[in-house]
Amino acid sequence: MSPSLPLAEVERATPASPLPLPRRFFVETWGCQMNELDSQRMAGQLMQQGILPTRDPEEADLILLNSCSVREKAAQKAYSRLGEYRLIKRRRPHLLIGFCGCVAQQEGEKALARIDDLDFVVGPGRVGELGEILRQRRLGQRRVATGFPDARQRNYELDAVSREGAYKGMVTIIEGCDKKCTFCIVPSTRGPEQSRRLDDVLAEVRHLVAYGFLEIELLGQTVNHWRDPETGADFADLLDAVARLPGVSRLRFVTSYPRDFSQAMVDQLGRHPNICPYLHLPVQSGSDRVLRRMGRGYTAEEYRDLAGRLRRARPGLALSTDVIVGFPGESDEDFAATMQLVEDLRFASIFAFKYSPRPGTAALKLRDDEVDGARADARLQALFALQNRIQRELNEALVGEQLDVLVTSWGKRPGTQTGRTPCHRVAHFEYGREPLPLGALTRVRVEQAHPHSLITSLAR
Ligand code: SAM
Repeated sequence: MSPSLPLAEVERATPASPLPLPRRFFVETWGCQMNELDSQRMAGQLMQQGILPTRDPEEADLILLNSCSVREKAAQKAYSRLGEYRLIKRRRPHLLIGFCGCVAQQEGEKALARIDDLDFVVGPGRVGELGEILRQRRLGQRRVATGFPDARQRNYELDAVSREGAYKGMVTIIEGCDKKCTFCIVPSTRGPEQSRRLDDVLAEVRHLVAYGFLEIELLGQTVNHWRDPETGADFADLLDAVARLPGVSRLRFVTSYPRDFSQAMVDQLGRHPNICPYLHLPVQSGSDRVLRRMGRGYTAEEYRDLAGRLRRARPGLALSTDVIVGFPGESDEDFAATMQLVEDLRFASIFAFKYSPRPGTAALKLRDDEVDGARADARLQALFALQNRIQRELNEALVGEQLDVLVTSWGKRPGTQTGRTPCHRVAHFEYGREPLPLGALTRVRVEQAHPHSLITSLAR
Protein backbone atom coordinates (compact mmCIF):
# COMPACT_ATOMS: atom_id res chain seq x y z
CA MET A 1 0.00 0.00 0.00
CA SER A 2 1.51 3.31 -1.05
CA PRO A 3 1.94 5.69 1.90
CA SER A 4 0.96 8.60 -0.39
CA LEU A 5 -2.66 7.46 -0.70
CA PRO A 6 -5.14 9.98 0.70
CA LEU A 7 -6.83 7.38 2.86
CA ALA A 8 -8.45 7.63 6.23
CA GLU A 9 -6.36 5.19 8.17
CA VAL A 10 -6.27 4.64 11.86
CA GLU A 11 -4.38 1.96 13.64
CA ARG A 12 -4.78 1.45 17.33
CA ALA A 13 -2.86 -0.98 19.43
CA THR A 14 -4.80 -2.96 22.00
CA PRO A 15 -3.11 -4.76 24.85
CA ALA A 16 -4.49 -8.11 23.68
CA SER A 17 -2.08 -10.96 23.04
CA PRO A 18 -2.12 -12.49 19.51
CA LEU A 19 -5.55 -13.86 18.78
CA PRO A 20 -6.12 -17.35 17.33
CA LEU A 21 -7.11 -17.67 13.66
CA PRO A 22 -10.92 -17.72 13.45
CA ARG A 23 -12.24 -21.08 12.26
CA ARG A 24 -15.62 -20.02 10.86
CA PHE A 25 -16.91 -16.78 9.38
CA PHE A 26 -20.38 -15.43 8.70
CA VAL A 27 -21.11 -12.59 6.25
CA GLU A 28 -24.36 -10.62 6.15
CA THR A 29 -24.79 -8.66 2.91
CA TRP A 30 -27.14 -5.76 2.23
CA GLY A 31 -27.66 -3.89 -1.02
CA CYS A 32 -26.60 -4.13 -4.64
CA GLN A 33 -24.70 -6.70 -6.71
CA MET A 34 -21.48 -4.81 -6.07
CA ASN A 35 -21.87 -5.47 -2.37
CA GLU A 36 -22.67 -9.09 -3.16
CA LEU A 37 -19.42 -9.38 -5.10
CA ASP A 38 -17.49 -7.56 -2.36
CA SER A 39 -18.78 -10.18 0.09
CA GLN A 40 -17.63 -12.95 -2.26
CA ARG A 41 -14.22 -11.30 -2.43
CA MET A 42 -13.97 -11.05 1.35
CA ALA A 43 -15.15 -14.66 1.77
CA GLY A 44 -12.54 -15.79 -0.77
CA GLN A 45 -9.69 -14.15 1.14
CA LEU A 46 -10.82 -15.74 4.39
CA MET A 47 -11.13 -19.17 2.79
CA GLN A 48 -7.58 -18.82 1.44
CA GLN A 49 -6.50 -18.55 5.09
CA GLY A 50 -8.40 -21.75 5.89
CA ILE A 51 -11.37 -20.00 7.56
CA LEU A 52 -14.61 -21.68 6.52
CA PRO A 53 -18.03 -20.11 5.94
CA THR A 54 -21.05 -20.82 8.12
CA ARG A 55 -24.70 -19.89 7.68
CA ASP A 56 -25.17 -19.46 11.42
CA PRO A 57 -23.74 -16.35 13.13
CA GLU A 58 -23.89 -18.23 16.45
CA GLU A 59 -21.31 -20.64 15.07
CA ALA A 60 -18.94 -17.97 13.73
CA ASP A 61 -15.67 -16.68 15.21
CA LEU A 62 -15.72 -13.79 12.71
CA ILE A 63 -18.81 -11.85 11.60
CA LEU A 64 -18.75 -9.30 8.76
CA LEU A 65 -21.64 -6.90 8.21
CA ASN A 66 -21.48 -5.64 4.61
CA SER A 67 -23.81 -2.65 4.77
CA CYS A 68 -25.68 -0.52 2.21
CA SER A 69 -26.41 3.18 2.63
CA VAL A 70 -28.61 3.95 -0.38
CA ARG A 71 -31.85 4.37 1.53
CA GLU A 72 -33.47 4.93 4.87
CA LYS A 73 -31.81 5.20 8.21
CA ALA A 74 -28.86 3.17 7.02
CA ALA A 75 -26.41 4.04 9.78
CA GLN A 76 -29.02 3.48 12.48
CA LYS A 77 -29.92 0.09 11.01
CA ALA A 78 -26.28 -0.92 10.76
CA TYR A 79 -25.53 0.05 14.36
CA SER A 80 -28.57 -1.83 15.56
CA ARG A 81 -27.43 -4.96 13.66
CA LEU A 82 -23.93 -4.61 15.06
CA GLY A 83 -25.58 -4.37 18.50
CA GLU A 84 -27.16 -7.78 17.93
CA TYR A 85 -23.80 -9.25 17.01
CA ARG A 86 -22.25 -7.71 20.11
CA LEU A 87 -24.73 -9.69 22.19
CA ILE A 88 -23.24 -12.85 20.70
CA LYS A 89 -19.79 -11.50 21.55
CA ARG A 90 -20.77 -11.13 25.20
CA ARG A 91 -21.40 -14.84 25.29
CA ARG A 92 -18.39 -15.72 23.12
CA PRO A 93 -15.69 -13.09 23.75
CA HIS A 94 -13.28 -14.46 21.13
CA LEU A 95 -15.75 -13.46 18.35
CA LEU A 96 -14.40 -10.81 15.94
CA ILE A 97 -16.78 -8.31 14.32
CA GLY A 98 -15.93 -6.38 11.15
CA PHE A 99 -18.03 -3.51 9.82
CA CYS A 100 -17.86 -3.32 6.01
CA GLY A 101 -19.60 -1.72 3.02
CA CYS A 102 -20.95 1.73 2.28
CA VAL A 103 -22.12 2.67 5.80
CA ALA A 104 -18.72 1.59 7.11
CA GLN A 105 -17.08 3.92 4.56
CA GLN A 106 -19.35 6.75 5.73
CA GLU A 107 -18.83 6.17 9.44
CA GLY A 108 -15.12 5.24 9.44
CA GLU A 109 -13.38 6.13 12.68
CA LYS A 110 -16.65 7.15 14.31
CA ALA A 111 -17.75 3.51 14.27
CA LEU A 112 -14.63 2.32 16.05
CA ALA A 113 -14.94 5.09 18.62
CA ARG A 114 -18.64 4.39 19.14
CA ILE A 115 -18.36 0.61 19.51
CA ASP A 116 -15.45 -0.37 21.67
CA ASP A 117 -15.64 -4.06 20.85
CA LEU A 118 -15.81 -3.56 17.09
CA ASP A 119 -12.66 -5.16 15.63
CA PHE A 120 -12.21 -3.36 12.32
CA VAL A 121 -13.88 -1.20 9.67
CA VAL A 122 -13.44 -1.80 5.91
CA GLY A 123 -14.87 0.41 3.14
CA PRO A 124 -15.81 -0.90 -0.32
CA GLY A 125 -12.56 0.41 -1.83
CA ARG A 126 -10.48 -1.70 0.55
CA VAL A 127 -12.16 -5.14 0.54
CA GLY A 128 -9.12 -6.61 -1.21
CA GLU A 129 -7.11 -5.96 1.97
CA LEU A 130 -9.30 -7.96 4.35
CA GLY A 131 -6.78 -10.80 4.75
CA GLU A 132 -4.11 -8.35 5.88
CA ILE A 133 -6.52 -6.37 8.10
CA LEU A 134 -7.48 -9.58 9.88
CA ARG A 135 -3.83 -10.57 10.29
CA GLN A 136 -3.14 -7.19 11.89
CA ARG A 137 -6.19 -7.50 14.12
CA ARG A 138 -4.86 -10.79 15.42
CA LEU A 139 -1.64 -8.98 16.29
CA GLY A 140 -3.62 -6.45 18.29
CA GLN A 141 -4.47 -3.60 15.86
CA ARG A 142 -7.98 -2.31 15.27
CA ARG A 143 -7.92 -0.80 11.80
CA VAL A 144 -10.16 1.57 9.93
CA ALA A 145 -9.48 0.96 6.23
CA THR A 146 -11.55 3.37 4.18
CA GLY A 147 -10.95 5.56 1.12
CA PHE A 148 -10.42 4.72 -2.50
CA PRO A 149 -7.04 3.50 -3.70
CA ASP A 150 -6.27 3.72 -7.41
CA ALA A 151 -7.83 0.75 -9.27
CA ARG A 152 -4.32 -0.46 -10.19
CA GLN A 153 -3.52 -0.85 -6.50
CA ARG A 154 -6.68 -2.73 -5.63
CA ASN A 155 -6.46 -6.42 -5.12
CA TYR A 156 -8.53 -8.27 -7.74
CA GLU A 157 -6.83 -11.60 -7.16
CA LEU A 158 -8.93 -14.00 -9.22
CA ASP A 159 -8.55 -16.96 -6.91
CA ALA A 160 -9.45 -14.97 -3.82
CA VAL A 161 -13.17 -14.83 -4.62
CA SER A 162 -15.68 -17.31 -3.23
CA ARG A 163 -17.97 -17.56 -6.25
CA GLU A 164 -21.07 -18.80 -4.51
CA GLY A 165 -24.34 -19.14 -6.44
CA ALA A 166 -22.67 -21.42 -8.97
CA TYR A 167 -24.62 -20.02 -11.89
CA LYS A 168 -23.40 -16.45 -12.21
CA GLY A 169 -19.87 -15.08 -12.36
CA MET A 170 -19.76 -11.36 -11.52
CA VAL A 171 -16.94 -9.10 -12.70
CA THR A 172 -16.47 -5.50 -11.57
CA ILE A 173 -15.43 -3.44 -14.59
CA ILE A 174 -15.77 0.06 -13.16
CA GLU A 175 -15.60 1.20 -9.55
CA GLY A 176 -17.26 4.28 -8.04
CA CYS A 177 -19.46 6.91 -9.66
CA ASP A 178 -18.85 10.46 -10.93
CA LYS A 179 -22.49 11.35 -11.58
CA LYS A 180 -24.07 14.09 -9.56
CA CYS A 181 -27.61 12.79 -9.05
CA THR A 182 -28.91 15.00 -6.30
CA PHE A 183 -30.54 12.17 -4.33
CA CYS A 184 -27.69 9.67 -4.37
CA ILE A 185 -25.04 8.90 -1.77
CA VAL A 186 -23.11 6.39 -3.92
CA PRO A 187 -20.40 8.82 -5.17
CA SER A 188 -19.36 9.49 -1.58
CA THR A 189 -19.49 5.86 -0.39
CA ARG A 190 -17.93 4.24 -3.45
CA GLY A 191 -15.62 7.05 -4.51
CA PRO A 192 -14.69 8.38 -7.95
CA GLU A 193 -15.06 6.34 -11.12
CA GLN A 194 -12.16 4.09 -12.01
CA SER A 195 -12.28 1.65 -14.88
CA ARG A 196 -10.33 -1.58 -14.98
CA ARG A 197 -8.19 -2.40 -18.00
CA LEU A 198 -9.85 -4.32 -20.84
CA ASP A 199 -7.21 -7.05 -20.68
CA ASP A 200 -7.80 -7.54 -16.95
CA VAL A 201 -11.57 -7.76 -17.45
CA LEU A 202 -11.17 -10.29 -20.27
CA ALA A 203 -8.74 -12.34 -18.19
CA GLU A 204 -11.26 -12.51 -15.34
CA VAL A 205 -14.09 -13.51 -17.68
CA ARG A 206 -11.92 -16.26 -19.23
CA HIS A 207 -11.11 -17.46 -15.71
CA LEU A 208 -14.82 -17.67 -14.85
CA VAL A 209 -15.66 -19.50 -18.06
CA ALA A 210 -12.87 -22.00 -17.40
CA TYR A 211 -14.32 -22.43 -13.91
CA GLY A 212 -17.66 -23.43 -15.47
CA PHE A 213 -19.81 -20.32 -15.31
CA LEU A 214 -22.25 -20.03 -18.20
CA GLU A 215 -23.45 -16.57 -17.22
CA ILE A 216 -21.22 -13.54 -16.81
CA GLU A 217 -22.46 -10.31 -15.22
CA LEU A 218 -20.41 -7.14 -15.65
CA LEU A 219 -20.81 -4.74 -12.73
CA GLY A 220 -20.53 -1.02 -12.14
CA GLN A 221 -22.65 1.79 -10.71
CA THR A 222 -22.60 3.25 -14.23
CA VAL A 223 -21.40 0.16 -16.02
CA ASN A 224 -21.76 1.64 -19.50
CA HIS A 225 -19.49 4.57 -18.63
CA TRP A 226 -16.52 2.15 -18.62
CA ARG A 227 -13.48 3.21 -20.64
CA ASP A 228 -10.19 1.40 -20.95
CA PRO A 229 -7.78 3.67 -19.03
CA GLU A 230 -5.04 3.04 -21.58
CA THR A 231 -6.64 2.66 -25.02
CA GLY A 232 -9.87 4.63 -24.54
CA ALA A 233 -11.96 1.67 -25.78
CA ASP A 234 -15.55 2.16 -24.59
CA PHE A 235 -18.28 -0.08 -23.24
CA ALA A 236 -19.54 -0.99 -26.75
CA ASP A 237 -16.03 -2.34 -27.49
CA LEU A 238 -15.95 -4.20 -24.20
CA LEU A 239 -19.38 -5.78 -24.78
CA ASP A 240 -18.25 -6.89 -28.20
CA ALA A 241 -15.00 -8.37 -26.85
CA VAL A 242 -16.65 -10.21 -23.93
CA ALA A 243 -19.56 -11.50 -26.01
CA ARG A 244 -17.06 -12.98 -28.50
CA LEU A 245 -15.18 -14.97 -25.86
CA PRO A 246 -15.78 -18.70 -26.34
CA GLY A 247 -17.94 -20.18 -23.58
CA VAL A 248 -19.83 -17.02 -22.59
CA SER A 249 -23.37 -18.37 -22.94
CA ARG A 250 -25.12 -15.46 -21.27
CA LEU A 251 -23.86 -11.96 -20.76
CA ARG A 252 -25.53 -9.36 -18.54
CA PHE A 253 -24.44 -6.00 -17.19
CA VAL A 254 -25.75 -3.71 -14.50
CA THR A 255 -26.38 -0.78 -13.92
CA SER A 256 -26.59 1.22 -17.15
CA TYR A 257 -26.98 4.97 -17.07
CA PRO A 258 -29.44 6.14 -19.76
CA ARG A 259 -27.45 9.22 -20.86
CA ASP A 260 -24.33 7.12 -21.43
CA PHE A 261 -26.04 4.48 -23.56
CA SER A 262 -24.65 5.17 -27.04
CA GLN A 263 -26.02 3.88 -30.33
CA ALA A 264 -22.92 1.67 -30.66
CA MET A 265 -23.94 -0.04 -27.39
CA VAL A 266 -27.51 -0.44 -28.65
CA ASP A 267 -26.08 -2.07 -31.79
CA GLN A 268 -24.09 -4.60 -29.75
CA LEU A 269 -27.33 -5.83 -28.16
CA GLY A 270 -28.66 -6.53 -31.64
CA ARG A 271 -25.42 -8.15 -32.79
CA HIS A 272 -24.75 -10.73 -30.07
CA PRO A 273 -27.46 -13.26 -29.20
CA ASN A 274 -25.56 -14.24 -26.03
CA ILE A 275 -26.07 -10.72 -24.60
CA CYS A 276 -29.25 -11.37 -22.61
CA PRO A 277 -32.41 -9.70 -23.88
CA TYR A 278 -32.77 -7.96 -20.54
CA LEU A 279 -31.59 -4.53 -19.53
CA HIS A 280 -31.85 -2.63 -16.28
CA LEU A 281 -32.08 1.06 -17.12
CA PRO A 282 -33.07 3.29 -14.19
CA VAL A 283 -35.39 6.12 -15.26
CA GLN A 284 -36.20 7.46 -11.75
CA SER A 285 -39.10 9.67 -12.95
CA GLY A 286 -41.28 10.31 -15.99
CA SER A 287 -41.34 14.08 -15.38
CA ASP A 288 -38.74 16.34 -16.97
CA ARG A 289 -39.06 18.80 -14.13
CA VAL A 290 -38.22 16.11 -11.55
CA LEU A 291 -35.48 14.61 -13.72
CA ARG A 292 -33.89 18.06 -13.92
CA ARG A 293 -34.05 18.51 -10.14
CA MET A 294 -32.56 15.05 -9.74
CA GLY A 295 -29.68 16.06 -12.04
CA ARG A 296 -30.13 13.04 -14.27
CA GLY A 297 -29.14 14.74 -17.52
CA TYR A 298 -31.85 13.31 -19.80
CA THR A 299 -35.52 13.96 -20.50
CA ALA A 300 -38.37 11.49 -20.40
CA GLU A 301 -38.60 11.77 -24.19
CA GLU A 302 -34.90 10.89 -24.58
CA TYR A 303 -35.41 7.89 -22.33
CA ARG A 304 -38.44 6.76 -24.37
CA ASP A 305 -36.43 7.16 -27.56
CA LEU A 306 -33.59 5.04 -26.16
CA ALA A 307 -36.05 2.35 -25.04
CA GLY A 308 -37.53 2.30 -28.56
CA ARG A 309 -34.12 1.98 -30.22
CA LEU A 310 -33.13 -0.81 -27.85
CA ARG A 311 -36.32 -2.72 -28.56
CA ARG A 312 -35.94 -2.31 -32.30
CA ALA A 313 -32.35 -3.55 -32.10
CA ARG A 314 -33.36 -6.48 -29.93
CA PRO A 315 -36.99 -7.59 -30.36
CA GLY A 316 -38.37 -9.12 -27.16
CA LEU A 317 -35.96 -7.16 -24.96
CA ALA A 318 -37.17 -6.96 -21.36
CA LEU A 319 -36.49 -3.62 -19.73
CA SER A 320 -36.46 -3.09 -16.00
CA THR A 321 -36.08 0.20 -14.20
CA ASP A 322 -35.79 2.06 -10.89
CA VAL A 323 -38.27 4.76 -9.90
CA ILE A 324 -38.13 7.16 -6.98
CA VAL A 325 -41.49 8.51 -5.84
CA GLY A 326 -42.00 11.48 -3.57
CA PHE A 327 -38.81 13.28 -4.64
CA PRO A 328 -38.96 16.83 -3.16
CA GLY A 329 -41.35 18.96 -5.18
CA GLU A 330 -42.95 16.03 -7.06
CA SER A 331 -46.46 17.26 -7.90
CA ASP A 332 -49.51 15.19 -8.84
CA GLU A 333 -48.78 16.07 -12.49
CA ASP A 334 -45.17 14.93 -12.17
CA PHE A 335 -46.27 11.64 -10.68
CA ALA A 336 -48.93 11.23 -13.39
CA ALA A 337 -46.14 11.59 -15.97
CA THR A 338 -44.24 8.76 -14.27
CA MET A 339 -47.37 6.56 -14.29
CA GLN A 340 -47.88 7.33 -17.98
CA LEU A 341 -44.28 6.43 -18.81
CA VAL A 342 -44.62 3.15 -16.91
CA GLU A 343 -47.92 2.41 -18.68
CA ASP A 344 -46.36 3.13 -22.08
CA LEU A 345 -43.02 1.39 -21.72
CA ARG A 346 -44.33 -1.82 -20.11
CA PHE A 347 -41.30 -2.69 -18.04
CA ALA A 348 -40.72 -6.34 -17.16
CA SER A 349 -40.03 -5.22 -13.60
CA ILE A 350 -39.66 -2.07 -11.55
CA PHE A 351 -37.73 -1.36 -8.39
CA ALA A 352 -39.61 1.54 -6.88
CA PHE A 353 -38.56 3.42 -3.77
CA LYS A 354 -39.87 6.27 -1.71
CA TYR A 355 -37.38 9.13 -1.72
CA SER A 356 -35.13 8.97 1.28
CA PRO A 357 -32.96 11.98 2.21
CA ARG A 358 -29.29 10.98 2.34
CA PRO A 359 -26.53 12.82 4.20
CA GLY A 360 -24.34 15.09 2.11
CA THR A 361 -26.54 14.96 -1.02
CA ALA A 362 -27.64 18.07 -2.93
CA ALA A 363 -31.34 17.22 -2.70
CA LEU A 364 -31.26 18.02 1.01
CA LYS A 365 -31.44 21.68 -0.05
CA LEU A 366 -34.85 20.96 -1.60
CA ARG A 367 -36.28 19.86 1.71
CA ASP A 368 -38.75 22.75 1.85
CA ASP A 369 -40.58 21.00 -0.96
CA GLU A 370 -40.80 17.67 0.85
CA VAL A 371 -43.68 15.45 -0.25
CA ASP A 372 -45.91 14.40 2.60
CA GLY A 373 -45.10 10.80 3.69
CA ALA A 374 -48.67 9.50 3.33
CA ARG A 375 -48.93 10.99 -0.14
CA ALA A 376 -45.64 9.38 -1.19
CA ASP A 377 -46.83 6.02 0.21
CA ALA A 378 -50.06 6.28 -1.77
CA ARG A 379 -48.09 7.03 -4.95
CA LEU A 380 -45.83 4.07 -4.36
CA GLN A 381 -48.83 1.77 -3.91
CA ALA A 382 -50.48 3.11 -7.07
CA LEU A 383 -47.27 2.47 -9.00
CA PHE A 384 -46.97 -1.08 -7.66
CA ALA A 385 -50.60 -1.80 -8.58
CA LEU A 386 -50.07 -0.55 -12.13
CA GLN A 387 -46.85 -2.49 -12.52
CA ASN A 388 -48.39 -5.69 -11.12
CA ARG A 389 -51.07 -5.55 -13.79
CA ILE A 390 -48.48 -4.97 -16.53
CA GLN A 391 -46.25 -7.78 -15.31
CA ARG A 392 -49.16 -10.19 -15.14
CA GLU A 393 -50.14 -9.29 -18.71
CA LEU A 394 -46.56 -9.63 -19.99
CA ASN A 395 -46.08 -12.96 -18.25
CA GLU A 396 -49.45 -14.32 -19.39
CA ALA A 397 -48.41 -13.67 -22.97
CA LEU A 398 -45.59 -16.18 -22.42
CA VAL A 399 -47.88 -19.12 -21.52
CA GLY A 400 -47.26 -21.99 -23.95
CA GLU A 401 -43.80 -20.72 -24.98
CA GLN A 402 -40.63 -22.73 -24.54
CA LEU A 403 -37.72 -20.92 -22.91
CA ASP A 404 -34.16 -21.76 -21.88
CA VAL A 405 -33.73 -21.47 -18.15
CA LEU A 406 -30.50 -21.26 -16.17
CA VAL A 407 -30.99 -23.27 -12.97
CA THR A 408 -30.24 -20.98 -10.03
CA SER A 409 -31.59 -22.58 -6.84
CA TRP A 410 -33.73 -25.16 -5.13
CA GLY A 411 -37.46 -24.48 -5.05
CA LYS A 412 -39.44 -23.96 -1.88
CA ARG A 413 -41.52 -27.10 -2.49
CA PRO A 414 -39.79 -30.50 -2.45
CA GLY A 415 -39.03 -31.76 -5.94
CA THR A 416 -38.85 -28.27 -7.46
CA GLN A 417 -36.11 -25.98 -8.67
CA THR A 418 -35.97 -22.39 -9.82
CA GLY A 419 -34.20 -20.73 -12.70
CA ARG A 420 -33.99 -17.54 -14.72
CA THR A 421 -35.17 -17.09 -18.29
CA PRO A 422 -32.97 -15.07 -20.69
CA CYS A 423 -35.22 -12.09 -19.85
CA HIS A 424 -34.39 -12.63 -16.16
CA ARG A 425 -37.87 -13.84 -15.23
CA VAL A 426 -38.11 -16.32 -12.37
CA ALA A 427 -39.25 -19.78 -13.55
CA HIS A 428 -40.26 -22.59 -11.17
CA PHE A 429 -40.35 -26.22 -12.35
CA GLU A 430 -40.52 -29.80 -11.07
CA TYR A 431 -37.31 -31.59 -11.88
CA GLY A 432 -38.61 -35.16 -12.25
CA ARG A 433 -36.39 -38.01 -11.07
CA GLU A 434 -33.06 -36.22 -10.68
CA PRO A 435 -32.46 -32.58 -9.75
CA LEU A 436 -30.52 -30.56 -12.31
CA PRO A 437 -27.11 -29.18 -11.37
CA LEU A 438 -27.20 -25.52 -10.33
CA GLY A 439 -25.78 -23.46 -13.16
CA ALA A 440 -27.07 -25.83 -15.90
CA LEU A 441 -29.25 -24.69 -18.78
CA THR A 442 -32.55 -26.47 -19.43
CA ARG A 443 -35.58 -25.90 -21.62
CA VAL A 444 -39.00 -25.35 -20.02
CA ARG A 445 -42.56 -24.73 -21.19
CA VAL A 446 -44.50 -21.91 -19.53
CA GLU A 447 -47.69 -23.30 -17.99
CA GLN A 448 -48.95 -20.48 -15.78
CA ALA A 449 -48.09 -16.83 -15.16
CA HIS A 450 -47.92 -14.76 -11.98
CA PRO A 451 -46.80 -11.13 -11.87
CA HIS A 452 -43.44 -12.05 -10.37
CA SER A 453 -42.81 -15.58 -11.63
CA LEU A 454 -43.66 -18.27 -14.16
CA ILE A 455 -44.80 -21.81 -13.38
CA THR A 456 -43.17 -24.02 -15.98
CA SER A 457 -42.57 -27.68 -16.81
CA LEU A 458 -39.45 -29.29 -18.23
CA ALA A 459 -39.80 -29.48 -22.02
CA ARG A 460 -38.90 -32.98 -23.14
N1 SAM B 1 -26.02 4.04 -10.26
C1 SAM B 1 -27.36 3.65 -10.56
C2 SAM B 1 -28.16 4.82 -11.19
O1 SAM B 1 -28.35 5.84 -10.54
O2 SAM B 1 -28.60 4.71 -12.31
C3 SAM B 1 -28.03 3.04 -9.34
C4 SAM B 1 -27.65 3.54 -7.98
S1 SAM B 1 -28.54 3.03 -6.53
C5 SAM B 1 -27.44 1.87 -5.85
C6 SAM B 1 -29.92 2.08 -6.98
C7 SAM B 1 -31.22 2.80 -6.92
O3 SAM B 1 -31.52 3.22 -5.61
C8 SAM B 1 -31.29 4.06 -7.74
O4 SAM B 1 -31.47 3.80 -9.10
C9 SAM B 1 -32.45 4.80 -7.13
O5 SAM B 1 -33.68 4.46 -7.73
C10 SAM B 1 -32.44 4.30 -5.68
N2 SAM B 1 -32.00 5.37 -4.79
C11 SAM B 1 -30.79 5.94 -4.72
N3 SAM B 1 -30.78 6.94 -3.82
C12 SAM B 1 -32.03 7.01 -3.30
C13 SAM B 1 -32.66 7.84 -2.34
N4 SAM B 1 -32.00 8.81 -1.75
N5 SAM B 1 -33.96 7.62 -2.05
C14 SAM B 1 -34.65 6.64 -2.68
N6 SAM B 1 -34.11 5.83 -3.60
C15 SAM B 1 -32.82 6.01 -3.92
